[in-house]
Parts: sequence; structure tokens; C-alpha cells
Amino acid sequence: MQSFSLVVFCTVSGDETRQRVKFTDERVCKSHLLNCCPHDILSGTRMDLGECTKIHDLALRADYEIASKERDLFFELDAVDHLESFIADCDRRTELAKKRLAETQEEISAEVAAKAEKVHELNEEIGKLLAKAEQLGAEGNVDEAQKVLQEVEKVRTRKKDAEEEYRNSMPASSFQQQKLRVCEVCSAYLGLHDNDRRLADHFGGKLHLGFIQIREKLDQLKKTVVDKQEKRNQERLKRREEREKEERMRKRTRSRSREHRRSRSRDRRRKRSRSSSRDKRRTRSRSRERRRRHRSRSRSRSRGHRHSHEQSSRHK
Ligand SMILES: [Zn+2]
Ligand SMILES: [Zn+2]
Repeated sequence: MQSFSLVVFCTVSGDETRQRVKFTDERVCKSHLLNCCPHDILSGTRMDLGECTKIHDLALRADYEIASKERDLFFELDAVDHLESFIADCDRRTELAKKRLAETQEEISAEVAAKAEKVHELNEEIGKLLAKAEQLGAEGNVDEAQKVLQEVEKVRTRKKDAEEEYRNSMPASSFQQQKLRVCEVCSAYLGLHDNDRRLADHFGGKLHLGFIQIREKLDQLKKTVVDKQEKRNQERLKRREEREKEERMRKRTRSRSREHRRSRSRDRRRKRSRSSSRDKRRTRSRSRERRRRHRSRSRSRSRGHRHSHEQSSRHK
């Protein structure tokens, strides 16, 4: 019973982990989802990288392809990071191979130069010995001159060997080495003396083409990232402008209503002041009336018949 449940548990948990991992998971290779992981592209070549450290799963890629149609997941950024570091590694390797090649060529040319130098030295030695023999002969020292000439023959033999060594060293190593080049795309060595077939095999081979594919994909991804970032920035800017516009509108309506309130109170104040001036006017008119009345009264004192009329009008 116990073993049975254990088996069930194992199979279920295996399926569950597979189901639990979503394509958005950190552990999933984003380059694989975008179909450009170098581990996929270079598999089976001389530079097979083995298994990727992150999860590769075609079902997850299918999930991603469906989801990416509805929303922008921006996985290109991860893929650019991944491919950029991979290509940087490759370019570093190319530079190193070129440097090593140049150093080897230098070593070889130093070796060849040393051999040529040896021939020159022996040549000079022969010249000097011959001159010495001639001098001895001229001095009548024939025996000594003969000895020197024998010496010359020995040096001549040594020179012949040195010349042969020099000639042999040239085509054997240095000549071949100097014709080697490093492929800038995939960092493989190319020989200028490779025949057409071999060159065609290289440039049409999975390794070289795989590197072209990765480099092109990287360029394309970089452009996509730049485009998307620009689009995002513009959208953000647009949103901000809209927000600011809304804010301005809100402020304006708020201030307008405040102004409305203010103007209303101003009206009220104006009304009040107007009424006070009216009051003043009223008092002024009253005093005028009083003065008039006073005048008429004084007049009525002299003209008694108007007095009664004036009195009756006031009682009205
Ligand atoms: Zn991968
Ligand atoms: Zn190549």
C-alpha cells in the first residue's frame, strides 16, 4: 500500500513540476522561447555547448507564443543580454586566436631570421678567411695560407647545411602558418591554402551559419528592444501629458468655481456699498429737503397762505 502511494506520488509530482513551471519562470531560457539560444543553434557542431543551464521546452515556447500575441512580455531584453555575452565571449576568443597566431608567426619569423643570420655569419667568415689566405700567400707564407683555405672549405660545408636548414624551415611551418587566418564570424581557423571544397564546407557549415544566425538575431533583438523602449517612453509621456492636462482642467474648474464664489461675494459687497451710497444719497436728499423746507418755511412766514398747503403735503 505504502509503495503504491509512493509510485503515484512520484509520477504525479513529475508531471506537476512540469506543469508548475510557466514560461514566465526565472528558470526558463528566454532565448529558447524566442528561438535563438546558442545551445540549440550550435548543437551538433564542433562548438556544441551542451545543455543550456536554463529550461528548454517546446511546449513552454508554444505557451509563450500564444501569450505574447496578447501582451508584450519584453523577453527580448533577457535574450539580448544572453546573446550579447555569448557573442562577446566568441569575439574575445577570436581576438585571442588572432593574437596567438601573430605571436606564432613572430616566433617563426624570428626562427627563420635566426637561420638566415647564421648563413650570413658563415658567409662573412668565409670572406674574412679568404682575405687572410690571400694576404698570407702574398707574404709568401704558403703553408699557413693552405691551412686557412682548408678552414674555408669546412666553413663552406657548414654554410651549405645552414642554407638548407633555412630553405627547409620556410615552406614547412612559417609559410603555412602565415597563411592562416581566424574567421571573424565563428572564430575558427581558416587556411588560405584550403581548397574551394574546404572553404565551401566552412562557410556553408552549421557552425559558421549558426554564428551568422545568432549575430543577426542579436541585431534584430536589439532593434526590437530599442523600438519597444521608445514606444513605452512615448506612451508614458503621452499618459503624463494627459494626466497633466486633466490636472490643469481640474485646477481651472476649481479656480473658476472659487472665482465664481469670490465674484458673488464681490457682488454682494458691491451691493452693500451701493446701498450705503444710496443711503448717503438719501441723507443728502433729506437734508436738501430739510433745507428746502426751511426755505419754504421762512418763505411761508412772509407768505402766510402757502403755509397751510405745505403743512398738508407733509401729512400725506
Ligand atoms: Zn538556453
Ligand atoms: Zn566561420
